[in-house]
Amino acid sequence: RELTVDLGERSYPIYIGEGLLEEASVYFAKHGISKKSPLMIITDEQVAGRHLAALEKSLKDGGFSVVSEVVEAGESSKSLAMLGMLVGKALEAGLDRNSAIVALGGGVVGDLAGFVAASYMRGVKFVQVPTTILAHDSSVGGKVAVNHPLAKNIIGAFHQPELVLYDLRTLQTLPPREVSAGLSEVVKHGLIWDADFVDWCETNAEKLLALDPDSIGHALYKGSSVKAAVVSQDERENDLRAILNLGHTIGHALEAVAGYGELLHGEAISIGMIGSAKLGLRYGAPEDVYTTTKRVLSACGLPVRLPEHYDVDSIMDAMMHDKKFKEGTMVFVVPTAIGKVDIVKDVPVAWVREIVEQLKQEAE
Ligand code: NAD
Ligand code: ZN
Repeated sequence: RELTVDLGERSYPIYIGEGLLEEASVYFAKHGISKKSPLMIITDEQVAGRHLAALEKSLKDGGFSVVSEVVEAGESSKSLAMLGMLVGKALEAGLDRNSAIVALGGGVVGDLAGFVAASYMRGVKFVQVPTTILAHDSSVGGKVAVNHPLAKNIIGAFHQPELVLYDLRTLQTLPPREVSAGLSEVVKHGLIWDADFVDWCETNAEKLLALDPDSIGHALYKGSSVKAAVVSQDERENDLRAILNLGHTIGHALEAVAGYGELLHGEAISIGMIGSAKLGLRYGAPEDVYTTTKRVLSACGLPVRLPEHYDVDSIMDAMMHDKKFKEGTMVFVVPTAIGKVDIVKDVPVAWVREIVEQLKQEAE
């Protein structure tokens, strides 16, 4: 499968298929990655042990000069210190303006490597080789970033890749919890854009959880297509791009108050999307906005209830911190039907609070 992210001169292809790692050199050459200048693969230790050798072999056999850097797995690698370290390695390895930086991994590696690519020598070529389901989201749109101790993703840039190479075989080694968490963003793309796809996700949830290549390939294709359609119309985040934040206002607040490792991003936004659906009902959306959202997320193995021990005050504080709000209202992405959302700019904070409280009572 192949799709194009349409951004004028910065358009690029996403290839989705089985065994693409082994053919990487062909795709890299086709899209103008230089064989004369060294390229750097950035990956994390979880992914390196499983998939780095195959990518290195293909590229080296194809005549590329390759250096690889392995960082610790996890969000803490998205740091300025790591950026500095990697720039040092790039200089030592002789990377020049024609070199490329390759991200082999999930969203963490993608964001980090992408920011190295955006800033090294004022920007070099970038290739994404995603290995998580969630990365179908992070590899489209060109947002790259590292974290600051005071805020996530606050030091960043827009830097589009030359190509995205999605080898479905790499997903076979994902832990089940990461599979479900990644599906959360897939379902989100359906909920904001494509009712038929939401229906398809529910029907095929078991196959998706079992990582059936055909089903996962289709899901990634559809999910990426929605994200690509949205960012092509609104590359720099104005009104339309905001719809991608469905479930994220509550979700980010849950992540902020959760203990370390307690909630994956996809799990937090799953609960957040249930909250958004409940808000939709208050604005007159039909009941199935809520029931369908809940059924499809549950089918994908995602949490739909807020665990009892979460403190509602802390969640509300985190939400106020995260979002601009004025005079007791806030901005929310609100579903109006399955596959359709509105941006509501004056949602009463009191309603949001009631909904967060109700999320603890959701039946699983
Ligand atoms: P991740 O990169 O941390 O991957 C999750 C875990 O799975 C890690 O432990 C990783 O080592 C492991 N892993 C990855 N691939 C594997 C494989 N094939 N087999 C076994 N283990 C594997 O996290 P993620 O969920 O992919 O991405 C989350 C990050 O993405 C966050 O930092 C978030 O800010 C970012 N993000 C960015 C955007 C964007 O538009 N740039 C969008 C959404 C999320
Ligand atoms: Zn997200």
